[in-house]
Amino acid sequence: MDSIAPALNTIHQQIRTAQTHSGQSHTVTLCAVSKAQSADRIRAAYVAGQTVFGENYLQEALLKQQDLQDCNIEWHFIGPIQSNKTQAIALHFDWVQSVDRLKIAQRLSAQRPTDKTPLNVCLQINISEEASKSGASRQEILTLAMQIKDLPNLKLRGLMAIPAPSQDESVQRDQFRQLRQLFELLNAQGLALDTLSMGMSGDFVAAIAEGATLIRVGTAIFGNRQPS
Ligand SMILES: *Cc1c(COP(=O)(O)O)cnc(C)c1O
Repeated sequence: MDSIAPALNTIHQQIRTAQTHSGQSHTVTLCAVSKAQSADRIRAAYVAGQTVFGENYLQEALLKQQDLQDCNIEWHFIGPIQSNKTQAIALHFDWVQSVDRLKIAQRLSAQRPTDKTPLNVCLQINISEEASKSGASRQEILTLAMQIKDLPNLKLRGLMAIPAPSQDESVQRDQFRQLRQLFELLNAQGLALDTLSMGMSGDFVAAIAEGATLIRVGTAIFGNRQPS
């Protein structure tokens, strides 16, 4: 637990350095990925100033949200979404980064309570085109974005991807660059997207160099995940 605040400091420094090196001046949001971490560990990060948290599994997230009701946390859902989970996700999260098909977006919009602000969503792209990974393909992304942008209770914010892991920085950068180009292409079509969610513990420096506006970092903040 004692390591969480120093780890956050280190990451903030690394973010600043990466931004300086690449001449980026926009804000990079740090989303702390807290799957398989206890509510107490999330609270320790919160007390250290972290307010944006990402969760992958609905049931686990709902239990921890109960414990953390007194904290002013912005919750991001970042895991695969089954249709029967959309109602609870629409109710209990501020962002959903892992939307990859129209049906899920339609359900989230229909189930988002109208007394809440619109649900912020990112489209998840399968940038490495791996058969096993979730995410929409590049070919379908423009059509999907155009359909989702007009859903009433959603706000389409941008793109998210989890490229195939690589230790090689040039490979990492190449994938992130492709994602940024897709993002720019969508904006050139009139979509005012402001969020490019890419980069995790092992590659967030490369992601920032290629223009990430939001990075999702788990292990580098909390250490290894506890087995569930
Ligand atoms: C687990 C996870 C992360 C964080 O991964 P780390 O390597 O622990 O930083 C980021 N994004 C998604 C979608 C994840 O599932």
